[in-house]
Amino acid sequence: MPDQTSNRLKKHTNEILNLWEQRTWEEVKAAKNQKSLALRDSLPEYLLKLAEALSGTIDRTAARNRMDKIELTRLGKKHGMERANSMHYTIDQLIMEYHILRQVICDVMDKDQILTPTELEVIVCSIEQAVSDAATEFSENMEVFAKKAALEDELRETVRSRDEFLSIVSHELKTPLTSLKLEAEMLLKYTDDGVKKIKKNRDFANHVNNQISRLSHLIDYIVDFGRIRAGNYRFEFEKVNINDVISEVIEKSDNIFQAFKLAPPEFICHGDAMVQIDKVKIEQVINNILTNAIKYGRGRPISIEVFVQNNEVEIIVRDQGMGIDPTSLDRIFKRFERAISPNEVTGLGLGLYITKEILSAHEGRIWVESQLGRGSDFHFTLPTADMNH
Ligand code: ADP
Repeated sequence: MPDQTSNRLKKHTNEILNLWEQRTWEEVKAAKNQKSLALRDSLPEYLLKLAEALSGTIDRTAARNRMDKIELTRLGKKHGMERANSMHYTIDQLIMEYHILRQVICDVMDKDQILTPTELEVIVCSIEQAVSDAATEFSENMEVFAKKAALEDELRETVRSRDEFLSIVSHELKTPLTSLKLEAEMLLKYTDDGVKKIKKNRDFANHVNNQISRLSHLIDYIVDFGRIRAGNYRFEFEKVNINDVISEVIEKSDNIFQAFKLAPPEFICHGDAMVQIDKVKIEQVINNILTNAIKYGRGRPISIEVFVQNNEVEIIVRDQGMGIDPTSLDRIFKRFERAISPNEVTGLGLGLYITKEILSAHEGRIWVESQLGRGSDFHFTLPTADMNH
């Protein structure tokens, strides 16, 4: 190959760069945002390499060819990475840039003297190699950037919900404490005696007891949450009858139902089964869902149904309360997530998260069916215990 073509390419490098830049600005959308220097990127170096490839006098040893290939790959990759970095580019636009380059080089070179088929092949092969290197690098980087962007979004979301959680926690802990302090101050001032005094003292004691229960319940949630996050939430499994467990929880929560002036929930068993569970934690699950049914149930009747099928127990807690917005149905099982403002009903947004964690440690599932204003059905499942164990 005579050196003439190589020299012609060097001579026309500026013209090629200018024409390419002009067409790229016009035809490639993402290029419009690029300044000349960034747009050209490693193109001048690439054209120099192409001129060398077209030279007939350079000694073409295997080692020299290998070095050239490595250098071309480096340039292609650099270009691909730059474009991925710019965030506006798509892979089609990147390929389009090389397509324009091939046309511009051929047009400019053909003006002086038509390129021979061999020269044309060198140019086309070189550009194909560059476009393939650039495209590979581009895709790899885009994947990394997409993952990074998703991680950053997740991080922002975690920080947002943590901040919101902290403000809810302080509010929640403060409310019973303020109330306790007030009660204690009144108790100190109270001087009346006789029957009235005894009754009043019992009311105070009851109130103090309720507020302390509320505080210790909130603290239990926070402690459990910490254990789950630290990966040391422990379970002790035993084989028990699921209907017995539910009956016990209903019995124990009698005082809450009374406090809300509600009849105990209707308990309907369509089946009976043994389950291998951590009894205390599954009681906590039933209790959480039941307490929510009371809290969000607008004082309307609540029921619990049990079904046994396909080696699984399914328990449904139904209320006829405020219901849940369809867009929040999945979200409420995540930590700190609530589908309601703290002014309406108080809560930490941890109960269902802990509930879901407990159930998944039992290979159980939980989901909710709900209609706004009509009520919610919380379903959860537990595998039945294998009778041989
Ligand atoms: P908390 O009740 O402390 O906010 P949970 O994790 O127990 O936290 O519940 C998360 C959210 O799910 C609640 O804030 C509420 O918006 C919604 N929710 C839970 N149970 C019910 C229910 N039975 N009816 C309506 N909304 C509910």
